[in-house]
Amino acid sequence: MFILQGDSRDPDSSNAGDAKEKQEKYFRKNIDGTTTKFTLSEEDWNRIIITTYPRGGRLLSGDWTAIFRAKLRESNPWCQLNFRNNHVISTNSPKRHSAPFFRGSAKCKLPECDVKVRLAIRKENGKYVDVTYVGNICHKKQN
Ligand SMILES: [Zn+2]
Repeated sequence: MFILQGDSRDPDSSNAGDAKEKQEKYFRKNIDGTTTKFTLSEEDWNRIIITTYPRGGRLLSGDWTAIFRAKLRESNPWCQLNFRNNHVISTNSPKRHSAPFFRGSAKCKLPECDVKVRLAIRKENGKYVDVTYVGNICHKKQN
């Protein structure tokens, strides 16, 4: 009986009130583990350049960051994403038939936010980019 009484304390104690006030200065949204995809049209691919290095290493260049950033806004209009790395499988890689054609990542540039985005394209000139969100959104409100 004593324990039950202890657990049924009013949750709106003065401490809880302080925590609530602090929380309202942030926009939060849980997206950790969310997966989605976006499509790349032929037109998009025409604006993406695949750079090849002498040793066979390849990277996406051209307008890929602008295209990806615009399309990621459909599933996450909140984060300000910076692309961190990208990797296109080498033409001479023994894994070229099984590994994804492209892998890359992006991260929200707001310091209080820990959202990362993992990106993958399975096939060369693939129509779909697989998107996985890691971490949750936490942004300081402007006002
Ligand atoms: Zn963010």
